[in-house]
Amino acid sequence: MLRGLARAAARRPGALWTRGSGSGTGVPAHVVDLRSDTVTRPGPAMRRAMAEAVVGDDDYGEDPTVRELQEKVAKLLGVDQTLFVPTNTMANLISVMCHCQRRGSQLLLGQECHLHVFEQGGVAQIAGVHSHPLPDLPRGTLDPAELERMVTRGLGSPYHPVCELICLENTHSSSGGRVLPIDYLRQVQLLARSHGVRIHMDGARLMNAAVALHVPPAHIVEHCDSVSLCFSKGLGAPAGALVGGPKHFIEEAWRLRKALGGGMRQAGVLAAAALVGLADFEEVLQRDHQNAQRFAKERVGQPLSHEAWAQDSRMLYQTPVEGLDQAALNGDEDTEAQRLTDLPQVTQLESSRAKSVWLQGSLFSLRRLGCPLPLLG
Ligand SMILES: *Cc1c(COP(=O)(O)O)cnc(C)c1O
Repeated sequence: MLRGLARAAARRPGALWTRGSGSGTGVPAHVVDLRSDTVTRPGPAMRRAMAEAVVGDDDYGEDPTVRELQEKVAKLLGVDQTLFVPTNTMANLISVMCHCQRRGSQLLLGQECHLHVFEQGGVAQIAGVHSHPLPDLPRGTLDPAELERMVTRGLGSPYHPVCELICLENTHSSSGGRVLPIDYLRQVQLLARSHGVRIHMDGARLMNAAVALHVPPAHIVEHCDSVSLCFSKGLGAPAGALVGGPKHFIEEAWRLRKALGGGMRQAGVLAAAALVGLADFEEVLQRDHQNAQRFAKERVGQPLSHEAWAQDSRMLYQTPVEGLDQAALNGDEDTEAQRLTDLPQVTQLESSRAKSVWLQGSLFSLRRLGCPLPLLG
């Protein structure tokens, strides 16, 4: 397949594959790494902004760039205040700790959500919070009837944990970047309010959700009591996340960030990168979504792929290797290479932030097929 790509590149000078210096192994010079939207590297504009950032000691609240970021995002999200933290994992943990003050209080969340699966059970380890996972429905939602049953089950009971928090993830990563419908958010909000339960939104990719729905992020966040947002995913910054909510919530969040070791000093260097990531997020994420959909539609890498389907904001690309016929792969390589070089947009990946359309699973499978590098990226 890679041989095919090299040949197609030679046929079309100026295509993505031919620019830059070759590696000498016949592998295209520009390789786009599609494992995740976390593998991007800051481009020149972002690096310049970091180098030139005006900074101060943020542990004293004196870093002007961090303050600018916090204030700007608070407005964007429609919350009282936000707090800059090193990672979205910390933003989620802080939020859960703020909402669940009582040891053993219950947190309802999806069984495949990031907070439950990929954060080491930090809410149990560190916060003494008891998570009750519910099945994720195909659109990344939870069954409202089941939520209500769980919220009310222990009411007034000395035997049951007391439910204090529901966590929603938007976009919902494990279902393939699904965007939670606004009607659903409204329904969960009503249910939570009527039982005195709060809602935290893990909005690591909240901006993708807003762009996909064509609404301001605040229209999503208004259904929650707190939100997290990650700058090192689709927004392309090297590090940093925010937690947002009411003033009293952020005051408590500040204390917890300190306790968890997340207080930083001249963090304006990182906040400057986040500001660059935010500057044109609508345009950039829109393009990412279009690319993902287009990849899915064109079935890029089809001989390798068993199933590929575009979802709201991202595409799941599964490449089970078992049962694949090597002859079929070889047979189709020219068409495949042509399809790849025909994709427009991909060449725009060297913008100020190196961006990538995001596929999942492709790298692993390509490696197993003996390809030396990820295919696109
Ligand atoms: C990546 C991610 C996180 C954690 O963010 P880090 O910055 O890696 O700690 C949390 N939630 C979701 C949905 C994510 O995708």
